[in-house]
Amino acid sequence: MARPRILISNDDGIHAPGIQALAAAASAMGDVTVVAPDRERSGAGHAISLYHPLRLTPHGEGRWAVDGTPTDAVYVGIHHVFRDGPPDLMLSGVNRGANLANDVTYSGTVSAAFEACLFGIPAVAISLTGGKPWDFEHAASVGVEVGRQVLAEGLPRGTLLNVNVPPGAPTDYRVTRLGRRSYGQAVDERRDPRGGRYYWIGGTEQDHDDIPGSDCNAVFDEGLISITPLHLDLSYDPLMAPLKGWRLEGLSQDTGDDA
Ligand code: MN
Repeated sequence: MARPRILISNDDGIHAPGIQALAAAASAMGDVTVVAPDRERSGAGHAISLYHPLRLTPHGEGRWAVDGTPTDAVYVGIHHVFRDGPPDLMLSGVNRGANLANDVTYSGTVSAAFEACLFGIPAVAISLTGGKPWDFEHAASVGVEVGRQVLAEGLPRGTLLNVNVPPGAPTDYRVTRLGRRSYGQAVDERRDPRGGRYYWIGGTEQDHDDIPGSDCNAVFDEGLISITPLHLDLSYDPLMAPLKGWRLEGLSQDTGDDA
């Protein structure tokens, strides 16, 4: 393959050190274009801006900021910045913090990768699970190596790889499933200077279920890099048959079997 064209985005914003480390590492492998939110958009999920305009601001050679969500950035990146032809690979991250288990539907990092794979572009989401000191360079090099292999092997349409790298520069990895993770569920009520109530959600206490083979176990219990294949098809096969057995009053089921 000719030198691959790589689109990079994130949800921590274009100024975040994680995306700068990823762009630097990826530029050794291909031609990098960054299209990323202009500010912190963590937790934006797969939100897209349909009711307000978006501004695209240059940030130096091959770098663009979008005043929207991670999905907006990837959408504008693929369909406008790359309008002469799609990128060969999309990398998202390196996120500051884990994207494991049920994090993935909240995650702008993972959603940016999902947005790319919606348009047939193989994508890898990369997150650094640790705390200070954040070593984004090692996680970036892991993400680029996974991306290099994705370019060689390809990915089935509609799939992406979700990579989580623990602190301490580990080199051992495990292929995993999504686990289950919980946070402190308290809603922290406070008062503003005029006495009005406001709330902080999303506690920092965290725990995970002990599920062998899960991403959480690999990262938190064993210090391994976790690589989880994800698919956009969220349908749940085991519930199909029981659901077909339901009787909804006033409605009749078309079983689809008459074809
Ligand atoms: Mn983030």
